[in-house]
Amino acid sequence: MPRFSTNSIHGHGHGDDPYGSLKTPIYQTSVYEFPDPETGLPRKSDRGFDLKYSREENPTVRALEKLLARLEGGLDSLAFSSGMAAIAAVYFSSLNSGATVLLPKECYGATQALARALRRFGVSCLLERSDSPAFLERIGKEVSLVFVETVTNPLVHVADVEAIAARCSELEIPLIVDNTFATPVIYNPLMDGASLVIHSLTKYISGHNDVIGGAIVASSRERLEELWEWRRLLGSILSPFAAFLITRGAATLEPRFEKQSKTAMALAEFLRDHPKVEKVYYPGLSDSPSKSTADKLFKKRLYGGVLSFEVKGGRKAALTILRKTRIIKPSPSLGGVESLLTYPVWSAAKSMPPELRAELGITEGLLRLSIGLEDVEDLKEDLENAFKEV
Ligand code: PLP
Repeated sequence: MPRFSTNSIHGHGHGDDPYGSLKTPIYQTSVYEFPDPETGLPRKSDRGFDLKYSREENPTVRALEKLLARLEGGLDSLAFSSGMAAIAAVYFSSLNSGATVLLPKECYGATQALARALRRFGVSCLLERSDSPAFLERIGKEVSLVFVETVTNPLVHVADVEAIAARCSELEIPLIVDNTFATPVIYNPLMDGASLVIHSLTKYISGHNDVIGGAIVASSRERLEELWEWRRLLGSILSPFAAFLITRGAATLEPRFEKQSKTAMALAEFLRDHPKVEKVYYPGLSDSPSKSTADKLFKKRLYGGVLSFEVKGGRKAALTILRKTRIIKPSPSLGGVESLLTYPVWSAAKSMPPELRAELGITEGLLRLSIGLEDVEDLKEDLENAFKEV
């Protein structure tokens, strides 16, 4: 069985191109000859669905799906036009009127907002901090679906997915894990018993801040078929060009993530010791409340490339830093080659009620930094120069 890096480069499994192309070509077509004029029968994709229309199946997208399944240790995967499209398909396929979904209080704002929007179809939400024992206690018979993020956004708390999965399996409740921040480089939630893994491919897996995409990886064929049907109905498949870019990016996922994690650790220590910083959130720091869970779950002692920090001086100071860094750009995404700084009150936590933000510690002075692949010393200098303006 090939190892991670080998899989990320060769796992798209391409090899049937008549020209011997090393890369999966971009099959930029909306339709296929249907039925096959030679046999008179429908042509099938490698997983047995009719290959007739690119809203349903596309060979470039298939190559990426096989690659993602290998990286996450799943049976197969489905690629979507965005991470939110993947999450929407999961909600639609899993929640009936009267259902209750348990979500982290601190999960990505749109994931929570979409669940709340389903209230008018009779779906209710329970919110709890996923890094606290209270989350486990909330998993009861009345819960129809549990959703967690391995590492939360923006405060990078680590959920004990292993314990949550054990509790869900005891009660036969499906567990959905958004593994966007951790990536399969350090963690595979399916191995610990998650039912489905979600990715915003926009982030580390594509890795270059130039494409939007999402995916669901699963171990159950029935679940995949059901989700395939929802993707077809919602029209939310990934485009072939986006699939090509994401497959290209995924080939370098491991070395990128390793360097980003190491730089993040160095910057977390730099910020922790900085006189103008109140608090730093990073699961790799020895005094982080998430450190022991991170060490239990994550292989390789890497903790990811995202950290958050609270600047002394509240909103004014935070917005000055946001304006004054030069290499680090103000922008709301993460996981790409460029370092990006974001103001969570305006981005990830924007759709969160202000009381909830306050309760979680998403303060007016909080900034989230996604580390890219620049030189660590340049990043430190960039931050130091910005701090001089505060
Ligand atoms: N999940 C997490 C953890 C995210 O941070 C995001 C976006 O920031 C999403 C899902 C949604 O992904 P997308 O923006 O690709 O729709």
